[in-house]
Amino acid sequence: MLAICDGGRSRTREHFAARFGKADESIYSLDGVHLRDVVLGLRVKSELPDPMAILLTVAQNRFLLDSLRGEGFLNMRLTDAELGEVIGIDPVRRVFEECIASRPCLMNRDEHGDFQCSTHGTLFLPALIKGSPLWKRVHEGLRLFDVSDQDLSAVTSFRLDMVQRPRFSAELLPPTVNSPGTYGFLLGDAANSIHFWPGRGLNSGLASAISLARSLNSAWNGRPFRDADFLRHEAAMSMLQYRHKSRAWKAMVTTDDQGVTWAIKDIIDHGIDGIDGIDGIDGIDGIAEEPDREADTATLLARMAAIRDRLAPRLAGMPDDEAILERLRTLEPRTLRMLVLSGAWDTLTMGGEEVDIDIFYGQDSTAAAAAVEALEPATRQ
Ligand SMILES: Cc1cc2nc3c(=O)[nH]c(=O)nc-3n(C[C@H](O)[C@H](O)[C@H](O)COP(=O)(O)OP(=O)(O)OC[C@H]3O[C@@H](n4cnc5c(N)ncnc54)[C@H](O)[C@@H]3O)c2cc1C
Repeated sequence: MLAICDGGRSRTREHFAARFGKADESIYSLDGVHLRDVVLGLRVKSELPDPMAILLTVAQNRFLLDSLRGEGFLNMRLTDAELGEVIGIDPVRRVFEECIASRPCLMNRDEHGDFQCSTHGTLFLPALIKGSPLWKRVHEGLRLFDVSDQDLSAVTSFRLDMVQRPRFSAELLPPTVNSPGTYGFLLGDAANSIHFWPGRGLNSGLASAISLARSLNSAWNGRPFRDADFLRHEAAMSMLQYRHKSRAWKAMVTTDDQGVTWAIKDIIDHGIDGIDGIDGIDGIDGIAEEPDREADTATLLARMAAIRDRLAPRLAGMPDDEAILERLRTLEPRTLRMLVLSGAWDTLTMGGEEVDIDIFYGQDSTAAAAAVEALEPATRQ
């Protein structure tokens, strides 16, 4: 057997594409276009205590601080227009390179304060251009999460899109007179690569490995495996795919009160441009408007107070109103507007029962499998 766990861009999976079938992009598309988020990853050290960082993160959909005791990545969801600015420049050849955008590389801060890719020698262009709109917005994020300029130590980007996979277990090579057959199993990100905004990629990957181990453990009897031995594992994998990708999709799109689904990155784009409002989203009713600092601050404060009340029983040390306002005061009106529009995390829809692979491998199910075996000895030949 072959465990295929070489990550989201698995080349082994592509090699055996004919066995695992075509991935379906359509479910994770809008108007027929496969939806992809690009996230700028800013390696930072934030001065905020974790409860404040969590509150600020789940109250909007533009920035996500993924950190422990302040150290980690501040992720910034980019609009399509901003993506065009994510570019590296080769200072010697004076040509633009897409290494930060396409591969993507990690650009560490060098001794001159520039962000440089150690592989390609390129510099992160937005940080070099005085008045770069993208770099200004990066700094708004740093201010919100209380990161001083020198505590931004590297920049990278992540591309996040999702597909539906038809199967996860397959007979790769049939047995021959000279060799046993080979089964292959997609595990971890090679099986289910999910948008990291709501997390769970690692959990899902570990669950897939545990499920396969249990299937192998219960099925192995010294004789060749057969398709039915992986019935439970395949079911567990489908369950993981359904649960985690449904949740992650809700972190990519939002549906307004007219039932129209929007990419969150496009809503952020509208918020930045201050152009026509969007019917039904957070009370914005289709008219162009200048940002109203007071109103947007009040909206965000009310939103955070509601989330704080919900989280307080589970998380000690939640900030008071004044501490929240102190953070919001650091931002420009346009950023406040965009945070309002981007919406809070849809935790109500994302929550609910989690995948429990024990339902396939509990003692009862092992006993049931043994009983079926006893009833069907002829099929074991
Ligand atoms: C920015 C970011 C934030 C995330 N945050 C969270 C989070 O908060 N919670 C969470 O649960 N998950 C999170 N995830 C997702 C999590 O990191 C992944 O789901 C997890 O790492 C998947 O593990 P994996 O072993 O399947 O794949 P990977 O971690 O990608 O490991 C695959 C390995 O295979 C190796 N490899 C590839 N090709 C070959 C080859 N030909 N030969 C040998 N080795 C090879 C690679 O070098 C790599 O080491 C995040 C992901 C990202 C990008």
